[in-house]
Amino acid sequence: MSNISKNIQNVRERVTKAAIRSGRNPDDVRIIAVSKTVGKAEVLDAYENAGQIEFGENRVQELLKKYDRSEPFKWHLIGHLQTNKVKYVVDKTELIHSVDSIYLAEEIEKQAEKISRVVPFLLQVNVSGEESKFGITPEAVEGFVIKMSQYRNIRLEGLMTMAPNITNMENVRKIFKELHTIYIDISREKIHNIDMKYLSMGMSNDFEIAVEEGANLIRVGTSIFTKE
Ligand SMILES: *Cc1c(COP(=O)(O)O)cnc(C)c1O
Repeated sequence: MSNISKNIQNVRERVTKAAIRSGRNPDDVRIIAVSKTVGKAEVLDAYENAGQIEFGENRVQELLKKYDRSEPFKWHLIGHLQTNKVKYVVDKTELIHSVDSIYLAEEIEKQAEKISRVVPFLLQVNVSGEESKFGITPEAVEGFVIKMSQYRNIRLEGLMTMAPNITNMENVRKIFKELHTIYIDISREKIHNIDMKYLSMGMSNDFEIAVEEGANLIRVGTSIFTKE
């Protein structure tokens, strides 16, 4: 077994335990292996030795470098997306996690229409209010969601956040709880064309807490790809 596959097994076991602890079905949580710090060889290692098929990149350039249409991988774009790069990724992404403005959503709509595709995406919410983080404020979510319901070539499927870089895990938990509450509130509103089904939160340092607080997509890089 390769190191990477051992790490993936370990993350899967921890996710399973966190899900069971919180009364959830472990199968409802998808692990996205964030390959931004490694090359294609490591991606192939994760696939061949651990059956991993979902990968995440935070930069368009890196995604394009690793992408190959003939492979079964599902690529998630998880980092800030510039409008001028949208055209390169609309046909390659399983899900764009990081939409943080109407302007960007409109550009995705435009490019998606050109290729007759409906592109699923998540809205990035800056729950912690940290200036260094992208994302819209929690207060702006509802207005954004209502606007999104009129588009035909993009579909909002959930919310994403990044916890602040802090060591106080109870504060991290609070952030995740808050996003979960917003997610539930929006789902209950049953807005046309909005299918709230994904809550993307949790990284190497905090994915167990995220799972306990309702995440069903977690984005794990360091814990999978860093050799011990
Ligand atoms: C890098 C990155 C991750 C993974 O972080 P790790 O701490 O390495 O697990 C998750 N989400 C986003 C948006 C990232 O940029």
